[in-house]
Amino acid sequence: DPRLQAISEAIRVIPHFPKPGIMFQDITTLLLNHKVFKDTVDIFVDRYKDMGISVVAGIEARGFMFGPSVALAIGAKFVPLRKPGKLPGKVICEAYELEYGKDCLEMHVGAVEKGEKAVVIDDLVATGGTLSAAIKLIECMGAEVVECACVIGLPEVKGQSRLSGRPLYILVEPR
Ligand code: IMP
Repeated sequence: DPRLQAISEAIRVIPHFPKPGIMFQDITTLLLNHKVFKDTVDIFVDRYKDMGISVVAGIEARGFMFGPSVALAIGAKFVPLRKPGKLPGKVICEAYELEYGKDCLEMHVGAVEKGEKAVVIDDLVATGGTLSAAIKLIECMGAEVVECACVIGLPEVKGQSRLSGRPLYILVEPR
């Protein structure tokens, strides 16, 4: 797909952010380019539009930058999966491992229903720990995660093996 090269080139790499040694993949520069931003969303829309998906779940914060556009275009609802303490209603919570320590993701009770088909969207997958917490949140409500989709997949993405067998769709790898 000729659009992928432009997507890859539109992602800025910031060395040593937020910590020394990390090469941060910054998708905000992709959002500044209307054509590339639209191509990114269109690729996800083309893939998911005819799959009977009624839920697009986005992971805070950068999953919120792609997920709602995909949801609107495929006729699905958008469900935010947030960091602890941000959602005002009753939530369920799923903990996951970080490189150092733990974090958790929360979802509003009632946001997804039994039998629904969902896709989970984030900007980047590294270990897959965040996506696997998202899968658990959605599936413990009786919905099915059909696939996880990210703009970038780090090559050390043993992530796939942490996604409980759910497929992972990534557009590009870091340059
Ligand atoms: P994982 O749980 O190890 O797969 O890490 C993925 C999460 O970390 C995602 O929510 C990403 O937004 C975030 N993340 C890790 N590294 C980067 C980066 O270089 N750029 C943007 N997000 C990152």
